[in-house]
Amino acid sequence: MSFFNKAADPDKWKEKYLNLLDEQEQSEASYKNSEESYREKEDLLCKTIVRLTIATTGLDPNLDPHLLSIRDQLKNGINSNALKDELEKFTASVAQIKHEPPQDSSADIGLLFDFLLQQYKTETQQHSLKLLKKKAETVKFETPNQLFIAILEVIEPDRDISNNIIANHIDIGIVSKQLLLLLEGIEIPSIFDQQAQTAKQLLSAPSQSTAAFETILDKSFKLLLKIKQHNQSEQQDFDKFLSHITEQLAALDVSVMGASTAAIESAENRIRLDQSVSDQMEKLKLSSTNATKLEPLKGLINSRLATIAQEIQEHTQKEAIQRQKTQQQLDDLVDKIKDMESESSELKSKLKIANTQALRDTLTGLPNRNAYNERLETELARWKRYHSPLSLIIWDIDHFKNINDSYGHKAGDKVLLLIAKQLSDHSRATDFISRFGGEEFTMLLPNTDSQSALVLANQLRQTIEKTGFNASGVSVAITISCGITEFILGDTDETAFERADQALYQAKEQGRNQCCIL
Ligand code: GH3
Ligand code: MG
Ligand code: MG
Repeated sequence: MSFFNKAADPDKWKEKYLNLLDEQEQSEASYKNSEESYREKEDLLCKTIVRLTIATTGLDPNLDPHLLSIRDQLKNGINSNALKDELEKFTASVAQIKHEPPQDSSADIGLLFDFLLQQYKTETQQHSLKLLKKKAETVKFETPNQLFIAILEVIEPDRDISNNIIANHIDIGIVSKQLLLLLEGIEIPSIFDQQAQTAKQLLSAPSQSTAAFETILDKSFKLLLKIKQHNQSEQQDFDKFLSHITEQLAALDVSVMGASTAAIESAENRIRLDQSVSDQMEKLKLSSTNATKLEPLKGLINSRLATIAQEIQEHTQKEAIQRQKTQQQLDDLVDKIKDMESESSELKSKLKIANTQALRDTLTGLPNRNAYNERLETELARWKRYHSPLSLIIWDIDHFKNINDSYGHKAGDKVLLLIAKQLSDHSRATDFISRFGGEEFTMLLPNTDSQSALVLANQLRQTIEKTGFNASGVSVAITISCGITEFILGDTDETAFERADQALYQAKEQGRNQCCIL
């Protein structure tokens, strides 16, 4: 804040000092023959140097010890050697002083106005301060005091500032009061407590000299600016911290989502966890919104995060157990399904065998009466639908009882097997042969009218007649008779069967080994 800086040009005093040395040298040359004049000049020089050391004390801490020492030495007149040593040390220290680049007062002014705009919020104050800021940045004020008076007129418009300004000097009381107000109105970070306390004490101290007050003023404003900068960087820290927390929470959310894809029960756990995390987040949001200080908020957020992390850990553990349980259940289920599958296929094959057995005649292997009934149903449906002819033949072995009686039951079985084979071998693939019972066989002939059936039946009958049977070395003639009928309109399975049965009866009546149609 160079406009409050009492040493606008820090090099000026150095220049004075060097000029003085030149003068001293010149005077030594001019007056070295005049002892009296020399004494006078020496005295004058001592006084000048002492004053100069007083004026320059406080400008740089490295120079102060030398200035003090030079002053002490000059109290008893000039001791050339000692003074020369000290002046040499002083000159060396002067050479080491680093020249700080001049501060950018316009930046300071900008910060000052930012600060004032935050403190004085009425519409008029805001408006006037903004105008004043523009003026300070562009037009510039001739002296810092003018700018300060203008600021005071804005923030304390009711007071007649001009009456309190005497000979271009600021009313120290008003300024002190305003600065005190500023310092008390803002929240001071703990690291500035000590400085703020000192500044407040200095500002509340009664009547000071203008020069001393300017120093206080300068220090106070520097302090205010430092606080503002500190707050700004803390705000940046705070923003960074919050965005870091947001990222962490987003990452947590992703891991929660990923961790919860397993079992059904885990969905409930997930809902519970989601609820809990969202509660914690809500509280975090509330705390963040209401927070005025970073450190306590950091603590609070960390403890909430710890709670969330713990809950996620518990959730993950629960879910791992659940997943294990579910996996076990799944394995058990797979085993059960495998067992059931093998049982079922076993059952299926048993059923198939049972079905086959149920529809087959065990002796001849031909379809049995049940199979005939089933097939009849199908053929009847087809006959009704397509109106293609369907014929039925009932076969009966002639005098079969005699075979049993003469050659035994086993021989009779062999005859049954033989006839079954002949009927199967010599009929068409589409014809359906079954052992209807005892020594009776039936044939269903689709797409066959009664006359065609008769032709086929006679061929079969003749084949069997020619085959004969060898019973214990004795050739036995075997004949069969059949009754034939063709399904006619209005027939049921029973009516057609009765007709075929009657035709069979007729064949037997007419002498056997023959086929009759009805
Ligand atoms: P017809 O020419 O009038 O038909 O005289 P048949 O002797 O063949 O007729 P009948 O009904 O009097 O005799 C049928 C015989 O068939 C009686 C029964 O013992 C015999 N039979 C029935 N089923 C079987 C069987 O599975 N095996 C044996 N060996 N004989 C059987
Ligand atoms: Mg019979
Ligand atoms: Mg018979």
